Amino acid sequence: RKPLDTEDEPPKKRHEVGHGQAVAAHYNELQEVGLEKRSQSRIFYLRNFNNWTKSVLIGEFIDRVRRKKSDITVLDLGCGKGGDLLKWKKGRIKKLVCTDIADISVQQCKQRYEDMKARCRYNEHIFDAEFIQADSTKDHLSTKYSDPDMRFDICSCQFVYHYSFETYEQADMMLKNACGNLSPGGYFIGTTPNSFELVKRLEASETNSFGNEVYNVKFEKKGDYPLFGCKYDFHLEEVVDVPEFLVYFPLLEEMAKKHGMKLVYKMTFREFYEEKIKNEEHKMLLRRMQALEPYSTSGDSRLVSDNPDDYEHAKEF
Ligand code: SAM
Repeated sequence: RKPLDTEDEPPKKRHEVGHGQAVAAHYNELQEVGLEKRSQSRIFYLRNFNNWTKSVLIGEFIDRVRRKKSDITVLDLGCGKGGDLLKWKKGRIKKLVCTDIADISVQQCKQRYEDMKARCRYNEHIFDAEFIQADSTKDHLSTKYSDPDMRFDICSCQFVYHYSFETYEQADMMLKNACGNLSPGGYFIGTTPNSFELVKRLEASETNSFGNEVYNVKFEKKGDYPLFGCKYDFHLEEVVDVPEFLVYFPLLEEMAKKHGMKLVYKMTFREFYEEKIKNEEHKMLLRRMQALEPYSTSGDSRLVSDNPDDYEHAKEF
């Protein structure tokens, strides 16, 4: 029963309730771990590989924009604790807006930025930044910017967009937030689980779940995959234990057209890796970031994890 003082409130619409608070609580509770502990983690190589993928993607689109203009403004939608701050610094952008539903993550992201700024040497460039706690599937981000007319050259949404596919309204609001304030010619870039792969693995499984020692994906049932609200529980050691939603990419592409967007490209992680690794700089970066070559058959032992589970999941997305 609702408390008395809310009894007269109109019933909430479907998209006004949902899993957002559970997701925020989960990410808020995640502890930051030091470098040493991280390197002992069973998902060390997976994390590094994901990070390498984001670095290459972000670097590529910064270069595309820089060919047209020098002052680059970016929206990091679902910034988390600021895992991509260094990438934006390396990209010498001018301004960054970081936003996330999890307030503690936003605070940690801000602190990380302040620390990074304090460590800058005299004359070293660092972008200006602002930090916003908001649910991007429900709130209008533009009302929260320091300048409501702020325009972005890039909106980066890394491992976040799938949380929005709970309802059409939420997915559309997140797209509006991602694309509505882009400058003409601006880019919406991101990474999200591959729903085709998820369904393929589920259908091949004898139960409603699949995975290994490190990760597990559990659906409520097989054979019925609604376009919105197709929830699965994703567990990944040390990182995630939250409900997520399938994103049917052709639908996302159609919905994005409404916001004036045109698909530039879409690749699986494997396709992206196979294309980008041909570039010597990207290959060097992969080594420096200690990301194993997950699809390599070269048998280079320095790059190959002893733990086959690291491989398995790296292939996942
Ligand atoms: N983008 C960061 C990165 O790549 O390191 C964090 C990725 S983490 C897997 C997913 C993030 O999405 C979490 O920080 C979570 O709080 C955020 N998130 C989930 N739902 C959201 C929503 N509705 N609005 C804004 N952020 C959301």
